Amino acid sequence: KKSGLSEVKVAVIGAPGVGKSGKTTISLLWRYIGEYDHQSESKYKSEVQVDGDTILFEILDTCPKSGDEMPTRDTIHWADGILLVYAITDRDSFNYVRRVRACTEFSANLPVLLVGNKDDMIHLRQVSTEEGEILGKDFDCTFEEVAAAEQVMEIADVFHELARKVLATRRK
Ligand code: GDP
Ligand code: MG
Repeated sequence: KKSGLSEVKVAVIGAPGVGKSGKTTISLLWRYIGEYDHQSESKYKSEVQVDGDTILFEILDTCPKSGDEMPTRDTIHWADGILLVYAITDRDSFNYVRRVRACTEFSANLPVLLVGNKDDMIHLRQVSTEEGEILGKDFDCTFEEVAAAEQVMEIADVFHELARKVLATRRK
């Protein structure tokens, strides 16, 4: 049974430089609302079909100024689902998502996806796939390595997967 339009709000969280908002990734897929500014948070909206449901995505591309700046409580409360992103070429960014999870209170049923980006740069890899998998198990969430800049559709799939989890949570 089709349930009409569902709104799904996603916060994209990760250290500076991991590839959250490059023009090859989010801005290709999502209609940007407002002025584009590299220095601040941006919001995107897009209507997408996922398994026959029409999903109105609202994406918050967060913009920490440094690896010390954690997402706010408001951001986490706003979100229906969280995309935690690090770069496999950047050990500090892996530690950042760890710290986010440790310092921030996620409600028990908040869907989370862990993504290791820049999987095209294996020659500069600092975080192994296994470490990503272990952290995913730790967080009790799905883990995936992607190359956002190369495989844009992989990123679309990540958002679809998160939407499925959000809808499943609502149906419970
Ligand atoms: P943000 O600070 O997390 O928003 O990161 P940006 O989206 O601004 O990207 C930072 C840099 O990483 C840019 O130079 C991107 O082109 C680059 N980048 C993003 N995704 C990838 C990827 O999958 N592979 C590679 N090699 N570079 C990427
Ligand atoms: Mg950015």
